[in-house]
Amino acid sequence: MLYNSGQRTSRLLTGISLKPLENALVWLMGLIVAFGLLIATDTRSVLYIALLLMAIHLVSIGAVIVIALLCMVTLTSMFLYEGGLHRWESITQWLGNLSVLAAITLVALRGKQVSDNLRHKEVYMVGAQRLTQTACFGFRADLQTMGWSEQAARILEYPSGTAPSASLFLARTHPDDLPLVLASFERAARHESLIEVKHRLLMPDGRIKHVHMFATPLFTRHGCFEYLGALMDVTARKLAEKALYRAQTQLAHVTRVTSLGELAASIAHEVNQPLAAITSSGQACLNWLNRPQPDLPEARQALERIIASASRASEITHRVRALSRKSDPLRQSESLNDIVKETLSLVRHELAHHKISPKIELAAFGGQVSADRVQLQQVIINLIINACQAMEKVKAPGRTLLIRTWVKDNEVMLEVTDQGAGIPSDVLPQLFTPFFTTKENGLGMGLCICRSIIDFHEGRIWATSAIDKGSSFVFALPILVANEPGYAAAI
Ligand code: ADP
Repeated sequence: MLYNSGQRTSRLLTGISLKPLENALVWLMGLIVAFGLLIATDTRSVLYIALLLMAIHLVSIGAVIVIALLCMVTLTSMFLYEGGLHRWESITQWLGNLSVLAAITLVALRGKQVSDNLRHKEVYMVGAQRLTQTACFGFRADLQTMGWSEQAARILEYPSGTAPSASLFLARTHPDDLPLVLASFERAARHESLIEVKHRLLMPDGRIKHVHMFATPLFTRHGCFEYLGALMDVTARKLAEKALYRAQTQLAHVTRVTSLGELAASIAHEVNQPLAAITSSGQACLNWLNRPQPDLPEARQALERIIASASRASEITHRVRALSRKSDPLRQSESLNDIVKETLSLVRHELAHHKISPKIELAAFGGQVSADRVQLQQVIINLIINACQAMEKVKAPGRTLLIRTWVKDNEVMLEVTDQGAGIPSDVLPQLFTPFFTTKENGLGMGLCICRSIIDFHEGRIWATSAIDKGSSFVFALPILVANEPGYAAAI
C-alpha cells in the first residue's frame, strides 16, 4: 500500500482525472447497461456478467476480452439453438444481452486499465521512494489526521501498518528540534503556502537521523487545510558532508604544514633576529651592571629591550604554532588588514631571500570579515609563495610583489600581483583544480585548498594574467558591517 492513513489525504495521491470525452463515453456505457438491463436481461446473462466482473479482478486484460467473447458466443449459440430468430421478443432480448455484455466489458476493461496503471505507478513510486530515501506524508493543518507512506514508517522506524499520527511523528523528533517542528505545524495552522524544515530524528537506540521535510497545502474542505509533502532521509548525505569537511580540514592542515616547511628558513631568521638582540642586550646589561659604579638606568633600558625582543620572538613562535596546529576552523570577526600584516611578518625574510620588494596598499577602512584567521593566513601565504616562485626567472631589481586590500560594494578584496611570466589563458581555468601543477616538485593542491577555504568563507577567488607581465590572484569576502559602524559611510 502506498499510503497508510486511509484518511482524506490519501485520495489526493490516487485521484484519477478522466478526460471529458472519456467521461461522456462512460456515461453512455452506463446508460446502455441500464437500458439493456431494463429491457433484456435474463438470469443467464446475469451469470455471464458476474463471471465477467470476477474475471476483471483475477486475470489479465487479454483474458478478460477472451472471456467476454466466449460469453457472447455462448449467448448467441443458445439463442440460435433455441430458435430465437423466429421470435421478435427473443431477438430484442438477445440484442439487449449482447449490448449489456459489451458495454460492461468496455467499462470494466477501462477500469482495469486505470487500476493496472495505478498499480504500476504505485510500484514505481514505492521503488523511487526506497531508492531516494524519500517518503510522502500528509496532514491536516489542525493535526487531527496524519498519513504517511510505508517509506515514512521505515524512516521513522515504526512497524509497517502502524497508524500514523502527529504524536508518533513528534515522538521521533529530536528534543532539541521539537520547537522547530512545532513551529512548522503552527505555520501550517496559519495556512502558509510552503513549509520546509530540516531537522533531526532521535531513534529509540540513540541514533540520530537527519531529515528534510517539505509540504504544501493541496486543498481545503469545510475550512480544513490539508498538506501533502515529502520527507527525505538525508542522514547519509549529512555524514558524507561531514566526512568531506573533515578530509578538507585535514588536507588544509597538511598543506599548511608543507608551506610552513617551505618557510622554515624565513621563520628561523625571524626568530633569530630577536634572539640575537636579546643576547646583545643581555651582554650590554651585564656590562652596565659590572661597572664599579653600576649604571642602573642603562641596565634597565637594556632589560626593556630584552623583554621587547623576547615578546617579538614569542609572537612569531605563537603564529607558527597556530599555523601548524590541527584545529577545526573557527570563524570570528577579523580585520583582513591585520591578517595581512601578521602574515607578512612570517614571509618577510622569504621575500628578501628572493630579492622581491613588497609593495603593500591596505584599504583605509580596513575590512572586517567573518574569518578563521589561520585559514586566511594560509591562503595569503600560498599566494605569496606562488608569486615568489613565479618571479624566480625575473631579473632581480624588477621583482615587485603588490599586495592590496580594498572595499568594494559589500566585499573586502585582497589582491596579490606578481611580475612573473604570467599564465597562458588555456591554463587559467585549471589553476584551482586538484593536483594541477606545472612545477617539478609541486603538489598542485595549494590553489585548490585556497578555493575551498574561500568557499567556506562564502567568498570568491579568481586569477587574471597577462603573458610576460605577471599574474594577479584576487579573493573577495563578504564584509562584516555589524562591528564596524564606519563601513556604512565607507560603502
Ligand atoms: P603548486 O604550487 O604545488 O604547483 P598550486 O595549486 O599552488 O600548486 O599552483 C598550481 C599551479 O598554478 C602552479 O603549478 C603554477 O603553474 C600555477 N600558478 C600558481 N600561482 C601562479 C603565479 N603567481 N604565476 C604563475 N603561475 C602560477
